[in-house]
Amino acid sequence: MKELFREFDFTKVGYYQSVLESQGIKTFIKNRDLAGLAGEAAIMPDVWPALCVVEDADYERAMQEIRENISYNEARVDIEVSCPACSELNPGNFDLCWSCGATIAEPVATE
Ligand SMILES: [Zn+2]
Repeated sequence: MKELFREFDFTKVGYYQSVLESQGIKTFIKNRDLAGLAGEAAIMPDVWPALCVVEDADYERAMQEIRENISYNEARVDIEVSCPACSELNPGNFDLCWSCGATIAEPVATE
């Protein structure tokens, strides 16, 4: 078992776990039971949830998948998109408007 990364935000760890599992890579989350920590735990990476591969041989492949997903997600989050229906601003990785639920197909320039 080899650790890929650890992150205070458990939802992120869970997200990458599902990405890797969908690629057929067996993963394991360390410190999973401690999810929901608050306060002091935030500054103690030792207890953060950590995503690991079960088979060391999958490590390189798993890191590759994570890197591809990180750049994809972060590139899109940087852009704000205004909803064509109600003009609310949405993060670029949203497919539906958080406010009215309309589909946000293409980035629309804000004026
Ligand atoms: Zn909207």
